[in-house]
Amino acid sequence: MSLQEYRSKRNLRRSGEPEGSESPSGGGNIYVIQRHQATHLHYDLRLEMDGVLKSWALPKGPPTQPNLKRLAVQTEDHPIEYAYFEGVIPEGEYGAGKVEVWDRGTFKPIEVDENKIIFRICGEKLKGDYCLIKLRPGTDPKNWLFFKKKTKEDEH
Ligand code: MN
Repeated sequence: MSLQEYRSKRNLRRSGEPEGSESPSGGGNIYVIQRHQATHLHYDLRLEMDGVLKSWALPKGPPTQPNLKRLAVQTEDHPIEYAYFEGVIPEGEYGAGKVEVWDRGTFKPIEVDENKIIFRICGEKLKGDYCLIKLRPGTDPKNWLFFKKKTKEDEH
């Protein structure tokens, strides 16, 4: 569990966000994207890995076609329960603004190492094989690229 950063950034009693249990019970493969109307509208991609939700902020939203590459900025791990969180984080709190689930479902890891995650998304909106690839050394280690892999149908 690595929720220390998550908890230290927030006043969970005021924000209404989940604290996260010590023995989380996710299905093992939760995929969710939340639309977060904070100071700047963005989308938050979360994947259940190692008992937490690994998280990336998508400033320009998720790519829906294979020719779009989108910046994904890794953020602190979130508790599993966050996948079901919707609400308005009050003014003055970290991430103040409305959070809504934009897409949800499951994912299947295809290839995972410290620099890349290739996975199949089975969501209501997003479906198909997606890649998260860390940007090159020398750039901010939190910066990843998020894009959809080409399928046979895309080549026609
Ligand atoms: Mn956010």
